[in-house]
Amino acid sequence: MFENLSDRLGGVFDRLTKQGALSEDDVTAAMREVRVALLEADVSLPVARNFVKTVTAKATGAAVTKSITPGQQVVKIVHDELIKVLQGEGAPDALRIDNPPAPILMVGLQGSGKTTTTAKLAKRLKDREKKRVLMASLDTNRPAAMEQLAILGQQIGVDTLPIVPGENAVQIARRAKQQATLGGYDVYMLDTAGRLHIDQVLMDEVQAVRDVANPRETLLVVDGLTGQDAVNVATEFDGKVGISGVVLTRMDGDGRGGAALSMRAVTGKPIRFVGLGEKMDAIEVFDAHRVAGRILG
Ligand code: GDP
Repeated sequence: MFENLSDRLGGVFDRLTKQGALSEDDVTAAMREVRVALLEADVSLPVARNFVKTVTAKATGAAVTKSITPGQQVVKIVHDELIKVLQGEGAPDALRIDNPPAPILMVGLQGSGKTTTTAKLAKRLKDREKKRVLMASLDTNRPAAMEQLAILGQQIGVDTLPIVPGENAVQIARRAKQQATLGGYDVYMLDTAGRLHIDQVLMDEVQAVRDVANPRETLLVVDGLTGQDAVNVATEFDGKVGISGVVLTRMDGDGRGGAALSMRAVTGKPIRFVGLGEKMDAIEVFDAHRVAGRILG
């Protein structure tokens, strides 16, 4: 992720920092290149435009252009703005999982990595926070998906709700809640059904489950490789079911990274975690500083 963007920006900033004095025209020209680089990384147009506008305004001030190291100061301004774009005004809070059993609703399209991410997060909560976690698959259309979660549960040592054929998603959610309460679990995670595209059936089901579970967190899992599509999916889900955050998967891949850069600014929702591979430990808390550092090399 971000390799091309990082190379492109590296080239622009190398030239800027090698130059002694900087005129406003130098900054404007550099920012034009930054804008193209962002768009090529699949950052949404309004986000790229706004980013360049903000940086240009800050970087053409006399304090910057007349300073001893104007180029470096511009890079610093870009760095700080990147962090703002990536995380908004502050780092996201930790997951709200007090008041056991805390329900976490996992939503997203089929193939986004939802089931894998559910298990990864459950393992993380168990290993790092010593939480007792119960996972339940609500994907009644795909018995294989339910099996998949059960297998992952065994692998990572996290309980899954026993599969009862014939139940619908709402019934499973109710049973999960009941079992989580009676069984003394700290957290229960509901892995909802995905579909290939957003449609009314999917949204109706997720809304019905949400109303039963009253989740503390509703995490949308989206494929980071899909760029602006990922952001559109997030906007849709947020409008229909309300999400508390996003997990961007496949950030280990060679996507262009635009989803990470546009997500917060477009949807107003924080990226909470990133998926970095297929293994159960391949998940990290989203860290805007680390990402900005990687983009700026
Ligand atoms: P679901 O249909 O949304 O539940 O998707 P799955 O959890 O079944 O994941 C689909 C595929 O994506 C599986 O092969 C996962 O191993 C893979 N996958 C999930 N997350 C990641 C990730 O962060 N990186 C990579 N490289 N693969 C992932």
